[in-house]
Amino acid sequence: MVSLEDILRAREQIAETIHKTRILRSSQLSEMTGANMLFKSEHLQKTGSFKIRGATNRVINAEKEGAKYITAASSGNHGQAVAYIANQLGIPATIVVPTDATESKVNAIRNYNGKVEFAGTTSADRIPKAKEIAKDNDGVFVPPYDHPDIVAGQGTVGLEITEQVQDVDVVFVPVGGGGLVAGILTAIKEINPDIKVYGVEPKLANDTAVSLQEGKIMTAGNPANTIADGLRTDQPGDLTFPILQKYIDDLIVVKEDDVRFAMSFVYERMKQVIEPSAAVSLTAALNSDVDIKGKTVVNVLSGGNVDLFKLNDLLVKTTK
Ligand SMILES: *Cc1c(COP(=O)(O)O)cnc(C)c1O
Repeated sequence: MVSLEDILRAREQIAETIHKTRILRSSQLSEMTGANMLFKSEHLQKTGSFKIRGATNRVINAEKEGAKYITAASSGNHGQAVAYIANQLGIPATIVVPTDATESKVNAIRNYNGKVEFAGTTSADRIPKAKEIAKDNDGVFVPPYDHPDIVAGQGTVGLEITEQVQDVDVVFVPVGGGGLVAGILTAIKEINPDIKVYGVEPKLANDTAVSLQEGKIMTAGNPANTIADGLRTDQPGDLTFPILQKYIDDLIVVKEDDVRFAMSFVYERMKQVIEPSAAVSLTAALNSDVDIKGKTVVNVLSGGNVDLFKLNDLLVKTTK
């Protein structure tokens, strides 16, 4: 398990690397919903997502433990974050990506001086390869969510929310493997258990919702098919799942069309560049049974890395 103390320690350790991101407010959405609608802007975070928080905490600890090399298996935000922090610390890094990774993502990793290796198309292809490269180079493999240092790093988002927002009532958090929500839950519930924290995942990747219902880790859905590419994990983590079981108020599943609408709304009205995975929090605020009227609501905008040339396929009309 991870404690509030671990998160406070992580915050000190990562303070010089990360941005303390601002809280944004939408008066239009506040009027529409009758809630005070706030947004934690991790899409404006270094490397474009909150993943830099956990990655930085883990890589600094690995360096202290003597790691001479860092690897990760991800073509997305985690891969970029690990490449960035390894480069900052002057540690060589290899990021193993799928053979069909988009060029923009591969280039982002290379821009941070990360070495890119290609392996298969599934995480079952990538992870063993990344672990093997770590072993051969006296290094450490950095997982995307299932490690106490990662969860503690992501938990700093929750810490900042409690400090930046007075009287927060409800927080909506995107859920993939559960590192972000597990960290936020630990921070918030240990500070004030009255604050409601809801996880959100696409119906097409509803492994966490099914696992919570069944009371054990399950694989579910067709995660490859959701537009929310940061949430395409097929099961919650061994470390993160018990934290969710202990603390989470509920897990909300959202429809793809509603995610498109929420994302488009943020572009059009708030002028913010977010990725589909980040839009699921607002999607839940707008479409779930959770009563937010009269409440102060924080929607976590988890990242902003989206291929601009794909926006045409993602955005929809928000007015009739
Ligand atoms: C990784 C990621 C998530 C999900 O985080 P987990 O810790 O895997 O639950 C959500 N949004 C974005 C933008 C991400 O990159």
